[in-house]
Amino acid sequence: MKGDAKERCKAVVVLSGGQDSAICLALAVRKHGAGRVAAITFNYGQRHALETKYAKALARHFGVARHKIVRLDFYRHLTRNALLDDGIPIARAAGAPCPTTVVEGRNALFLLAAGIWAKELGAKEIYTGVSQTDYSGYPDCRAGFIKAQQRTMRLAMEWPFKIVTPFMNMTKAEEWALADRLGILELVKEQTLTCYNGIPGAGCGNCPACKLRNAGLRAYESSLSAPMARTM
Ligand code: ZN
Repeated sequence: MKGDAKERCKAVVVLSGGQDSAICLALAVRKHGAGRVAAITFNYGQRHALETKYAKALARHFGVARHKIVRLDFYRHLTRNALLDDGIPIARAAGAPCPTTVVEGRNALFLLAAGIWAKELGAKEIYTGVSQTDYSGYPDCRAGFIKAQQRTMRLAMEWPFKIVTPFMNMTKAEEWALADRLGILELVKEQTLTCYNGIPGAGCGNCPACKLRNAGLRAYESSLSAPMARTM
């Protein structure tokens, strides 16, 4: 059939409504055109359902052909952490590898689910905004995991998946610079939600997600005002 979805879709973007996934979406749209990009958002019982609203608005803003919101209600029955449970404070215990916000297996599950839909749509690329540079110690943000997951998914579904991770080796400051080059700096600053306390834009300023985001933005903005850097 002409115009079949299986011919048209090129990439599925895992879209959380945060800064990283917003920039991923912009990159996928720039490469393939909005009509060939799909976005998928997971509602897994995270504290802030508001994320879904931001994801929807971003999908609309970029005009992607499809946006699916998938509920993973079972998550909270399997594991406890600060993102799923208001009763657990957001913190990192002394000596702990990750803060209490780690959601075990989240990226493996999200990528697998995105892959199932991608194959259905005929898309091979899956975009995810993970980074091993400025990360919080989450094991499923590292390149080794992504490589293994891609192989697992290829074997599981016999489909040539390519997991695209534009920020894997970028600092947050470099990511802000990229947003600026793409012409979406203000959009990402104002219309995304990264904060663990559910406050959009610059957020609460105190949680680990805000600290990372805001420190990166300050570093990027101060690099703009440094005259030496500009003439380099
Ligand atoms: Zn915050």
